[in-house]
Amino acid sequence: MDNPGSSDPRLDGDSERARSEAALAAVGDETRLRILQALHRARDTNRHPDVRPVPFTELRKRVGMQDGSQFNYHLKQLVGPFVQRTEDGYVLRRAGERIVTAVLAGEYADAVVYDAEPVPTPCAICGGDVVLDYNVEPFLDYLVVRCTNCEGVVSAPGRPPGMLSLTDAMPPVGMQTRDPVETYLATFSFIGNQFRTIVDGICPHCSGRLTAEPRVCEDHDPGDGTVCERCGTIFFVWYHHRCDVCGFSAMIFLDRHFVVHPTVAAFYHDHGYDPFGPEWLRVAAETIASQTVVTEDPFELEVHLAIDDDALTVTLDGNGDVLAVA
Ligand SMILES: [Zn+2]
Ligand SMILES: [Zn+2]
Ligand SMILES: [Zn+2]
Repeated sequence: MDNPGSSDPRLDGDSERARSEAALAAVGDETRLRILQALHRARDTNRHPDVRPVPFTELRKRVGMQDGSQFNYHLKQLVGPFVQRTEDGYVLRRAGERIVTAVLAGEYADAVVYDAEPVPTPCAICGGDVVLDYNVEPFLDYLVVRCTNCEGVVSAPGRPPGMLSLTDAMPPVGMQTRDPVETYLATFSFIGNQFRTIVDGICPHCSGRLTAEPRVCEDHDPGDGTVCERCGTIFFVWYHHRCDVCGFSAMIFLDRHFVVHPTVAAFYHDHGYDPFGPEWLRVAAETIASQTVVTEDPFELEVHLAIDDDALTVTLDGNGDVLAVA
């Protein structure tokens, strides 16, 4: 996939930041936030799009302000990036909606803490019991899945032992409305979509362009265990994805890049694997027979997959894009 990085002048970091700062100042006021919330509540959610223009007087009443000129002053600060003025009234724009939903989501933050909640999927490495942590120091806002029996797939100082994954959690609302096992299962759908977006070179936070870089462990050697002492993981190759616009950054395992390819997806499906389900780690733990850096410049990686008597060879480039499947 083509991923030439950020050369679009509209995505220039300084002007983007200046716009964001001006935007935050515009909504850093209780009345303005109440206006956005009133417009959000006034949407007609039975329709697509759910836009329903709210006339000036109705909006003022919904916000509960007597002083028309005061109200008008605050409303004016929002018109533009957050609120659209139409002939029939005022409409919430996408940027305004994001602020309202962020405030709603923030009200739930820290309400949920999971400390070693058991989950129904056994460890893909050793078959041991797996537990879930959420909002546990030092990884607040992260979801940690870890094995209680083996060293897991990532081992580093400051990380809990047996770590199988460390991912963004769903926003707090998503955690609040589900029990731990439901959260665990819902996260695969939520994170699976993020992985797909990242692998396609699109920032899951701001939709800016991602640039990717392969990280190869030069002397990968798991010794008697599963985790290599040099890189601290079971994975020989990772891809580091970074957003040039918002600074989002993620280290993504090699296998996430090829499991989305239709031929590879069919291969796993035919053998009873679900690369985006709770047993996703079985792909890396059981089916990667070998991985070889064929050329450094341009970077080309060959991965041999084997399940029973079937085999597949996948070639990836420096962005983690699949060049060939044979
Ligand atoms: Zn284990
Ligand atoms: Zn290594
Ligand atoms: Zn971004």
